[in-house]
Amino acid sequence: MEQQLKKPKILKFEGKILDAKNLTPSVKQLSIETPEDFSFIPGQFVSILLNNNGEEIKRSYSIASRIDDKNLELCIKILENGIGTQIINKLKVGDILKIIGPLGHFVIQDNSKEKPITFISTGTGITPFRPMIDFLLKNGFSKKIILITGYKTEEEILYDEEFKKLTNYPNFSYNITLSRSENSEKKYVQDIITGFINSDYYVCGLKDMIYSVRDILLEKGIPRENIFFERYD
Ligand SMILES: Cc1cc2nc3c(=O)[nH]c(=O)nc-3n(C[C@H](O)[C@H](O)[C@H](O)COP(=O)(O)OP(=O)(O)OC[C@H]3O[C@@H](n4cnc5c(N)ncnc54)[C@H](O)[C@@H]3O)c2cc1C
Repeated sequence: MEQQLKKPKILKFEGKILDAKNLTPSVKQLSIETPEDFSFIPGQFVSILLNNNGEEIKRSYSIASRIDDKNLELCIKILENGIGTQIINKLKVGDILKIIGPLGHFVIQDNSKEKPITFISTGTGITPFRPMIDFLLKNGFSKKIILITGYKTEEEILYDEEFKKLTNYPNFSYNITLSRSENSEKKYVQDIITGFINSDYYVCGLKDMIYSVRDILLEKGIPRENIFFERYD
């Protein structure tokens, strides 16, 4: 690995929204201006403070941007009854967001750099893997990287073109499974984990998937210390 990342400073800042667009019918990507000294380690998240009828509420979002991207990007699933995401859904270009970060320890561990890495996500759980995988591949990580990602249907797939492009790296494999598609066999990420190689496993998404994947890995003999996860709920 060539580039070493320094421990970033945690900042509290006001960031202007430069772009807000739908990546899928229910997932929004915000692009936000950051102060000069904002930096992060791939896998970290930020907390945003939202005004809910006069009360300040805090919600956390993994950083979707790659470390070389100019702006902070967030990839957010808008929930029909979500208090925070319904506010986020109404944000417009030019609005200012109060942000704290970067935060969190869901980053590539030094020990992981010596063996293959398997990333497993569902839905917007793919978000921290975008900068993590980009960083590893572009910085000479030569062991195998396996991405296993699950969605309900085709229209929910995130960053598909980007991950397809990264398969130009011979050590990167990109696997998608759809649980409710009419056009393919309905499978969950749990159904397509194979190999159970001597790999470190990074898992991100909602807790039911995370614990189910963790139990499968433990049953197959993967040591607990080789499994890392970020829970969204
Ligand atoms: C470290 C961390 C990083 C996160 N990163 C992301 C991210 O990158 N993108 C993202 O979309 N969310 C992410 N989340 C989830 C996010 O913080 C909020 O919980 C989510 O946006 C719901 O907020 P809300 O106020 O709209 O819903 P609320 O009104 O607070 O609650 C709605 C309910 O939905 C559940 N829920 C939370 N997330 C989801 C989901 N994705 N799908 C279905 N149900 C859900 C909650 O458990 C809760 O029961 C992250 C959470 C954590 C802790």
